[in-house]
Amino acid sequence: MREFQSVDLPLGSNTYYLRESFSDLKVILSSLNLKGRKFCVVTDRNVNDLYIMSLKRNLYPEFDFITYVVPAGESEKNLETVHKLYGFLIENNFNRDDILIAFGGGVIGDLTGFCASTYLRGINYIQIPTTLLSAIDSSIGGKTGVDYNGFKNLVGTFYNPLFIYHNVSTLRTLEEIEYNSGLGEVLKTAMILDKSFYVYLHDKYDAILATDNRSTFEMVRRCVFLKDYIVKKDPHDQDIRGILNFGHTIGHAIETLCNYKYPHGNCVARGMKYAILISKNMGYLSETDAEHLLELLELYNFETHIPSNISNTAILEAIKKDKKQGTDGLKFILLDDIGHAFIYPNMSSDDILRGLES
Ligand code: NAD
Ligand code: MG
Repeated sequence: MREFQSVDLPLGSNTYYLRESFSDLKVILSSLNLKGRKFCVVTDRNVNDLYIMSLKRNLYPEFDFITYVVPAGESEKNLETVHKLYGFLIENNFNRDDILIAFGGGVIGDLTGFCASTYLRGINYIQIPTTLLSAIDSSIGGKTGVDYNGFKNLVGTFYNPLFIYHNVSTLRTLEEIEYNSGLGEVLKTAMILDKSFYVYLHDKYDAILATDNRSTFEMVRRCVFLKDYIVKKDPHDQDIRGILNFGHTIGHAIETLCNYKYPHGNCVARGMKYAILISKNMGYLSETDAEHLLELLELYNFETHIPSNISNTAILEAIKKDKKQGTDGLKFILLDDIGHAFIYPNMSSDDILRGLES
């Protein structure tokens, strides 16, 4: 029989337990002396239906929990849901010693983390991410938040969970569209930070697309390490953490102009294509490297053209309106090698337009 893999990754502010089941979650909770605390698992309907029994079985009889289930989807990531969750915690007499568990994708992670950071001025929480995006991106780095008045993540905090526990086998039930969207962020991580990871993704693309456990496990392990490496350098996102926005400037513009019709990672893939072309046009990236990078997007079947109803000038306007842009000039993430990104502080509209037209 194949042996199970398990890796403990020490992060800057906690530990990431990477597993193939939920079997030792209760051992970790016991080792942190959390017996006797009240736990509230916050999850969405899909994850609840698929995995809540398995979670219960694996924690029983040492740990029990109550469950707060929200409908699935970004539309629930708002202050109204936060208010309802506060109400549920008050009804169940949650005090400062008690603990929230975010069990689901990035929506649940952001929402639960925000609630944990504000309820009674902050109670502990644990992240159990179940989507690829949440396993490799949103659960690491301490950003929590909700959407407000049509703006994504406008209200939020920096607040780290006690620990993160990811069971990679949960990724097998993800809809293909969600898994592929997470892959957009995986490819980004390799392109900006690690050439050897780029080579790995290139070599293993068929196993990764088929969610083969061993390759997926290794892919998640590398992504977690790399995201943490950047977060540690810049925990409050004031400088170098900005390189994680590679592909996001144009990607986010496309995402909003299409009214979120395409998944985030697919828009990021489009944004990465143009950021690669701009890096090449501006003389930072060689023709050969640019071709290799574009080939990776193709291997993973990313659609990279801009939808025909969106003009290049509309993209430029959307970029200028983005709330993340400061007043100083447009920061744009470029590559000067496979696995190396940098922040270009004053990107001109002309250079972006030239990239979009190439
Ligand atoms: P999501 O949480 O909406 O999950 C996507 C879908 O997958 C949902 O329908 C969910 O019910 C379902 N699902 C979850 N796990 C499943 C499983 N194992 N099997 C089957 N279905 C499953 O979306 P997401 O892509 O995980 O996260 C997106 C959110 O993450 C956005 O709100 C974004 O703003 C946020 N985000 C936050 C950070 C951060 O640093 N905090 C970083 C990136 C993204
Ligand atoms: Mg992103």
